[in-house]
Amino acid sequence: TNFIRMMPKIELHAHLNGSLCTKSIEELCEELYGVNSNEKVLLSKELVFDGGNLDQCFLKFRFMHELTATKKGLQLATELAIRDFAKDNVIYLELRTTPKKNSEMSKEEYVKNVLEAIERTMKIESIHVSLLLSIDRSKSVAEAEETVNIALQLKNTYKDIISGIDFSGNPKLGNFMHFIPVLEKARKNDLKLALHCAEIHNPAEIDQMIKFGMERCGHGTFLSELQLNEIYRRNIAIECCLTSNVKCSTVKCYDDHHFKHIFNDKKAPVILCTDDCGVFDTTLSNEFVLAKNTFNLTKNDLLQLSLNAVEFAFVHEHFKHDLKQRIRHYFKIQTEPES
Ligand code: 5GP
Repeated sequence: TNFIRMMPKIELHAHLNGSLCTKSIEELCEELYGVNSNEKVLLSKELVFDGGNLDQCFLKFRFMHELTATKKGLQLATELAIRDFAKDNVIYLELRTTPKKNSEMSKEEYVKNVLEAIERTMKIESIHVSLLLSIDRSKSVAEAEETVNIALQLKNTYKDIISGIDFSGNPKLGNFMHFIPVLEKARKNDLKLALHCAEIHNPAEIDQMIKFGMERCGHGTFLSELQLNEIYRRNIAIECCLTSNVKCSTVKCYDDHHFKHIFNDKKAPVILCTDDCGVFDTTLSNEFVLAKNTFNLTKNDLLQLSLNAVEFAFVHEHFKHDLKQRIRHYFKIQTEPES
């Protein structure tokens, strides 16, 4: 466990408003509202999801969305989320968030606030962070287009931070086909795509998504064998979030998780991720420990998973090289016998 905790890790699937641990949420509430300790206990109950279905899980985000509806709340939440990952020895983090408009901020200002907080926090913590803007599939195509336009507009100023587009939100809502022109525009303009795909059983949509293409597939829970073969053929990585899937009941138990089949039998590129470490009360280290214990992974498997994550990160080749070297170095020194 200590080996995994100290291991330099790569997190590629983390939704900002789901990624603050309970302690950080308490800190955020204290800073924003000056809450007392009794209220803090209630706060953590509001956010952490004990289990249920996806619809129930989605309700959990409402509470965080209230906390991040001001510039101060949003910037502090971003800082705290990054700090939490850095504490877990995540050396490269891809955060994703859905730009939101309210009485205080436009969507563009929302994104700028997140970017400012990312830049500031990177100077303090030893972690590199990039940002994906999320399209909420339950909202309109016009909103999605606005999100892509903001990404393209800010990409020039923040070219090392803005890296791609995520397609998420309640998978039972919205029609993927309607979003194709917008996603195509993003792709044509060098934004990478990470799509929540096969999160629920919806074979026709999964086929449409695979045909359209993506760099990374979020969850991939309900991929058929044929679809999995096609994902493999197209060199698409699958982001597996063990605790998230079990708590949302899209996977019955850890033993049954599709990670096993994809990693062991198909040898397809798979990446371990947290999804929403606050909501699901987990950490990336915890996800690695779970995977190691459930599927009897060796140190070599852990190395392979870490290198997979680097390979599919939305960064330049030279940075991938650096990250791989750091990871390989850790495995080398930790497995060398002491002299
Ligand atoms: P935010 O984008 O507000 O920073 O992060 C929370 C949002 O991410 C949620 O409202 C939802 O749209 C999306 N999200 C978080 N977790 C999941 C998940 O497991 N599946 C899907 N499809 N979307 C999610």
